[in-house]
Amino acid sequence: MTERGVYQQLRSHLAYLRLPAAAEQLAVALEDAEKRKPSYTRFLERLLAVEVEATERRRLEGRLRFASFPSPKTLAEIDYDAQPALDRSLVEELATLRFVEDKGNVLLIGPPGVGKTMLAVALGRHAAEHGYRVYYTTAADLVAKTQRAALEGRWQTTMRFWNGPALLIIDELGYLPLPAEAASHLFQVVSRRYEHGSIILTTNRGIASWGEIFQDTTVAAAILDRLLHHGTVLTINGPSYRMRRHHDRVEQLRAGLQAAPAGK
Ligand code: ADP
Ligand code: MG
Repeated sequence: MTERGVYQQLRSHLAYLRLPAAAEQLAVALEDAEKRKPSYTRFLERLLAVEVEATERRRLEGRLRFASFPSPKTLAEIDYDAQPALDRSLVEELATLRFVEDKGNVLLIGPPGVGKTMLAVALGRHAAEHGYRVYYTTAADLVAKTQRAALEGRWQTTMRFWNGPALLIIDELGYLPLPAEAASHLFQVVSRRYEHGSIILTTNRGIASWGEIFQDTTVAAAILDRLLHHGTVLTINGPSYRMRRHHDRVEQLRAGLQAAPAGK
């Protein structure tokens, strides 16, 4: 076979093996090899590394799409000065992702606007970037989907879905009171994931007032019990970041008004 024929054969091997990035890089890599004369192993390693990088990028994009995060927030964007109530060393500990490895849970508690969703999403993205399957949902959505699935005879499939990701983020528990049936759906999800996968749950209600979220206090206690067993509790009782920005704008307006020459 001519050199040209071998080259064509090699390209079709790469296509058959579904290594498109390596196939695309082949001509450039060969040209480069003519000049630098790398060892056979080095040449092959470099060529395959191109494919590995492309695959990793594609898989990460897939995980991020699947996760359905409501925003692209990252851990680097957290402003600790603006939120002194946020325990930085605890966030850094969570960022090691040991809690995901250990199938532990994280409970984020605090009033609206303190950054609970942001932190949950940022940790979720961080986990996705490290190869974990993550899924974001609100508590209301989780309950609604599960309820619909139960009615439509898809209960098992839906339960398997909630069990799938290594990390399930359940946002905004407590904004709406949960009727007994909804609470029992949530309990099923939490208890099936117990020691199988992690949950980050955010809530505006302190643990002591969980009885008010759930009409059924026994279910509330059972859910808490499972969440807290391998759980980290992070309470953010600081000022609302949303209100802070609002406050800043009002201050700017006021300063502007004062700076403006009077009587014009
Ligand atoms: P919560 O879920 O507690 O109601 P959010 O996470 O939705 O609060 O935060 C409200 C807004 O303030 C969001 O736009 C969020 O990105 C921003 N924010 C909150 N805390 C911080 C912080 N520590 N650093 C930077 N932005 C923050
Ligand atoms: Mg929120």
